[in-house]
Amino acid sequence: MNRRDLLKNLLIIPPGIFLGGLFLKTLSLLKKTPLGKISLESIYGKYNPHAHYYAMGIDIDKCIGCGRCVEACKIENNVPREPFFFRTWVERYVITVDGETKVDSPEGGIHGFPEPISEKEILRTFFVPKLCNHCDNPPCVQVCPVGATYKTIDGAVLVDKDYCIGCRYCIQACPYGARYLHPETHTADKCTFCYHRIVKGLQPACVEVCPTGARIFGEVKPRNNPLARFVRFNKLGVLKPYLNTGPKVYYANLDKEVT
Ligand code: SF4
Ligand code: SF4
Repeated sequence: MNRRDLLKNLLIIPPGIFLGGLFLKTLSLLKKTPLGKISLESIYGKYNPHAHYYAMGIDIDKCIGCGRCVEACKIENNVPREPFFFRTWVERYVITVDGETKVDSPEGGIHGFPEPISEKEILRTFFVPKLCNHCDNPPCVQVCPVGATYKTIDGAVLVDKDYCIGCRYCIQACPYGARYLHPETHTADKCTFCYHRIVKGLQPACVEVCPTGARIFGEVKPRNNPLARFVRFNKLGVLKPYLNTGPKVYYANLDKEVT
């Protein structure tokens, strides 16, 4: 039995049977172990994470719901093709004259959207791309019992697959539905801001393919960075701000109906 299986078995034993001092001590030691650091050093190479701090901007008014970002993400990150596994997806909001709001996302919006059908007169429609918010105060990190999900110095939230035991605690804790259990690796999976690309100075795949520039990725601080300009020149909103998760995906022209 390897370390991952051992930890998984420990976690599925009913708490009443095996919540002894040894178990708790094991978990607390594991949580203190800088697992992320070990993994990050091997990923970073010459890249200096201290010199960066990333976020993403999304301009709702520019998104046309074409779904190219969803497709690019699936290909880039080996996300299963089935229409219930996504690292990013697009939702359509349809608002009728009487104030009713309908939300749909057929297959995550990967093939675009058909004309909206409504018995009532439609006031407006718009598209909202969604993904992991790389929260500054992430509930998913707080609940992970083995420290497999962690914040990086440069603003991302990642999962170390070597340590993830597939317990799904983080999937349940994420208030944005941004995580899923990968059916092949049996580990938690989600958007990484295409971390393997950004450490090489490339843009995330979804940003690169967006034909309208609705997605903007970059540095928060340097004033001439596209993301910093987007933050300066737009009135921004985040999803579920009342949860105080500190999302780092900032939306411009975000309607109050969006949750
Ligand atoms: Fe974690 Fe969900 Fe926040 Fe992403 S959006 S950092 S998965 S809580
Ligand atoms: Fe919207 Fe751009 Fe994605 Fe198309 S590629 S759905 S325009 S964010």
